[in-house]
Amino acid sequence: MLSLARTVKEPFGCRRLSIRALGHAAAGIAILTLPVIVSRSAIAQPLADPFSVGGPGSTDRLTFPLPLRSPAVRSVAVENASLSGSVLRIDTDAPVTPIAYCLADPPRIVLDLVRASCPSVSGDMPHTLTPRTAGAIERVRLVPIGADGGTRVLVDVPMLLPFHARRTPGSTGVTLEVFRLAPRYGIVVLDAGHGGDEPGCVGRRGTLEKDVNLSVALRAQAILASHGVVCLLTRSDDFAADLWDRAYFANECGAKLFVSVHCNASQRQASGTEAYYTSPVSRPLADRIQTEMLMALGRPDRGVHTCRFVVTRETEMPAVLCELAFLDNEEEEVLLSNPDFQGKAAEAISRAVLGCLRGDGMRDTLSSGVFIR
Ligand SMILES: [Zn+2]
Repeated sequence: MLSLARTVKEPFGCRRLSIRALGHAAAGIAILTLPVIVSRSAIAQPLADPFSVGGPGSTDRLTFPLPLRSPAVRSVAVENASLSGSVLRIDTDAPVTPIAYCLADPPRIVLDLVRASCPSVSGDMPHTLTPRTAGAIERVRLVPIGADGGTRVLVDVPMLLPFHARRTPGSTGVTLEVFRLAPRYGIVVLDAGHGGDEPGCVGRRGTLEKDVNLSVALRAQAILASHGVVCLLTRSDDFAADLWDRAYFANECGAKLFVSVHCNASQRQASGTEAYYTSPVSRPLADRIQTEMLMALGRPDRGVHTCRFVVTRETEMPAVLCELAFLDNEEEEVLLSNPDFQGKAAEAISRAVLGCLRGDGMRDTLSSGVFIR
């Protein structure tokens, strides 16, 4: 729900445009007060009628109902008894996409529910929830964020554990699963490139890079989890994450290794697999990933290269960006959109990560690579 009678002023040429938002349970009304007279066609207008133009003097006032209202958090529940870990269910009255990340000190998982209104302090729902049974979720707190509304859900955990946040299937809410796994090798961060309104490259058949990247990262997370590796994702759903935030996330949770998953594109017709790294300490991981991907995917070898990408440059542990294949190559687009091929890519990445975590060559880097703010 929009907050009642909120007014925002934005630059409009040399003057200011004011936007007044009114909210109620069913819909919102936005009133744009323009400092100059404009014609209706001058306004980029994604919203359909009804739409009115009028107002005295040099001010036109446009009123239209907002088609979507902001979601509201209705209830929060924790199941701590599950053998695999704990589940947090957040019920909302309209769809919401969680932005999930974790912080190391003290260990907690943060879910930002953008635009979702936080239950009022005076309401029935408590802002702090302490589960009756002990488990991977120790406490849940809800705090309002942002001028335009939003709820931050802080989930206290005993240690950084792998988690998966997603929209609840068949419902408007959000589910957070926290897996109870002993971190045998420390934490690995996988980064599914792009997301949300940044699709990455797009194949001729309409395959979106962000979807392939996420599918491969989720599959690799599951494979690594089965080997006792705590694997966290910079995004576990379809949302845009800032490149610097992705690197910060890996640094903040003290990741041992970082792998960013991408698909390639070229102006010329190109094909094949390649890997990128910035710091020399990342070279062994880049070599292993490239070798495993070539064996698993069978695409041409485009080599291992150095780069200055934000996610490989700003991360403080061995970090590699891999380009699985070319999405703008028709043959490779068919492969990239195939779940079996995605599974092979995930297995290749997992084998390389496990090899580096277990291998002698990485030991020095691993023991000194932990960074917690
Ligand atoms: Zn990409």
